[in-house]
Amino acid sequence: MTDSNETILEVKDLKKTFGDHEVLKDISFSVNRGEVISVIGKSGSGKSTLLRNINLLEEPTDGDILFHGQSILADNFDLRQYRAHVGMVFQSFNLFHNLTVLDNVVVPQETVLKRDAAEAKAHALDLLKQVGMEPFINAKPGQLSGGQQQRVAIARAEAMDPEVLLFDEPTSALDPEMVDDVLNAMTALAHTGLTMIVVTHEMAFAQDVSDRVFFMDEGVIAESGTAEQIFEHPQEARTQEFLRRYL
Ligand code: ADP
Ligand code: MG
Repeated sequence: MTDSNETILEVKDLKKTFGDHEVLKDISFSVNRGEVISVIGKSGSGKSTLLRNINLLEEPTDGDILFHGQSILADNFDLRQYRAHVGMVFQSFNLFHNLTVLDNVVVPQETVLKRDAAEAKAHALDLLKQVGMEPFINAKPGQLSGGQQQRVAIARAEAMDPEVLLFDEPTSALDPEMVDDVLNAMTALAHTGLTMIVVTHEMAFAQDVSDRVFFMDEGVIAESGTAEQIFEHPQEARTQEFLRRYL
């Protein structure tokens, strides 16, 4: 939950075009510390592209993104440190397949944060325990179910002590019986006060956990509000239509 009004991220008039396809059209919003924002909307509405621009996996065509008031597009901006502070959890887990579960969480702490091995290991074990993956620390990702891999990916992202975590449909690739374990891990994270932006089709999760919900349609945030406003009293016809199909 929001515990201060400190702005961490500001997205200002963000535009992204691919060729002549305008995928993001003038998106603006800011994110306060501790906020959990869910982004919902049809496939193709630009949700992934929005997260990928925030994480600079894609370069904005126009507009700006400020992190603690500093443009992440500035020439001298330290992108590697930024990506440690603003982590991302992908639909497809993206673990290092040649490393054990434990090393997937340890190694990035050593390489990016320069933590010593003992400290990195202690932190990793703590986080893996929180997501219920402690019994699997010596397994390789390929030996795990999708839901287990995604929980490791969440622990790995947490291990970087992020200020913001971005999630792009983290449960969409999972078998239904795995979804709840991952959502429970994310709900627990939200309750720690971590700032999160979550693209999701899990409407019950979005409704329960979000401070704010953005409904995206055709490259714009067509409607935003509290979970209650969006799910119980949507104002826009296109939000209502979308929710009719999902709720
Ligand atoms: P969502 O995540 O809401 O399903 P995306 O952000 O993935 O939507 O995609 C929005 C639109 O942008 C889609 O029409 C998609 O085809 C297009 N798009 C996304 N990435 C690229 C790319 N790298 N090159 C060209 N078009 C892209
Ligand atoms: Mg997507």
